[in-house]
Amino acid sequence: MSVFDHPEFDQHECVHFVQDERSGLQAIIAVHNTARGPALGGCRMWPYASSADALTDVLRLSRGMTYKSAMANIDLGGGKSVIIGDHRKMKTEALIRAMGQAVDRLGGLYVAAEDSGTSVDDLRLMGEVTTHVGGVIERPGPGGEPHSGDPSPATALGVFHGLAAAVRFQLERDDLEGVRVAIQGVGNVGYRLAGHLHAAGAELVVADIHAPNVERAVDAFGATAVPVADIDAQDVDVFAPCALGSAINASTLPRLKARVVAGAANNQLDRTAYDAALMERGILYAPDYVINAGGIIDIFYERTGYTWEKVERHLKGIGDTVTEVFERARRDGQPTGQVADLIAESRFRRT
Ligand code: NAD
Repeated sequence: MSVFDHPEFDQHECVHFVQDERSGLQAIIAVHNTARGPALGGCRMWPYASSADALTDVLRLSRGMTYKSAMANIDLGGGKSVIIGDHRKMKTEALIRAMGQAVDRLGGLYVAAEDSGTSVDDLRLMGEVTTHVGGVIERPGPGGEPHSGDPSPATALGVFHGLAAAVRFQLERDDLEGVRVAIQGVGNVGYRLAGHLHAAGAELVVADIHAPNVERAVDAFGATAVPVADIDAQDVDVFAPCALGSAINASTLPRLKARVVAGAANNQLDRTAYDAALMERGILYAPDYVINAGGIIDIFYERTGYTWEKVERHLKGIGDTVTEVFERARRDGQPTGQVADLIAESRFRRT
């Protein structure tokens, strides 16, 4: 099969295959669309079973970044890179530098950020050989807490605003007092989201495969812990997937009691068709890439003049953006995910 016929190719502007014999680097850099600006996206290091798997992953993720930045209305395009290999065994300074040089050769078309298997320190190392890295500068976050690279605080706050907007739209509630939210996965983002919800008076039910994370949420926010296998079927108002992808799948869909699905996880729908299935069941879905864009928004301001106030204002706007999606979906009788895609495409497709 030609790369151009790949099911995930979707009009990528360019795809670079990178090899560096000395460091053992094998990587792919995918640039989906730069109509709005440089293609910014994470650099993932993963032990892919084959280069074909790596290609599929990078193409899918790169395209997703275009949609995310367009919906966040920031002047960035969509791109992503993957280094093929186990970060625990194969990551060396030489390899990371070689990746930085590969990024540099693209002259700013692609900007790398942290992702699974890479750290802020890795990105800083790349930053010694290229200026085209993001999420590396230390800056004041919420409450003055210094942070660099870790996008979770901004992501969690953005998800909170998106979730609150979904509750307002679907449950006609202006506040979250007593609103019941089931959070699947209380890691970096889920735990912070739980904090915002708790402060707003919501009642929390949580599950996580990592027991200490559950205990932390129970202790800090009085959350009720439930088994991992039952979190999607809780009698709650909102289901917030904050673990891995595909939280909405053939077995969870019929079990949902929540009237809203709004969370941080990427690719929450196992199949695109579940967008329509949720609508048919009267469940309002806040499209994942619309409400989890906080991290990219945070990095965007690092490039254009950072203050937490600016970031905070933009994150609050996620509530307005997702409400626009809900309103149009209701007006046109279309699923929310489809409507979000159409709006995003109108913002990056070159005419
Ligand atoms: P994380 O690894 O810190 O947290 C994920 C949590 O989910 C962990 O505590 C893990 O133990 C738990 N988990 C894994 N499988 C589970 C399961 N089957 N049931 C219940 N819990 C499970 O990751 P994170 O940074 O908090 O990101 C969470 C999700 O949000 C991911 O899908 C990520 O891609 C997405 N996301 C994160 C950011 C960000 O800024 N970190 C930005 C956009 C999207």
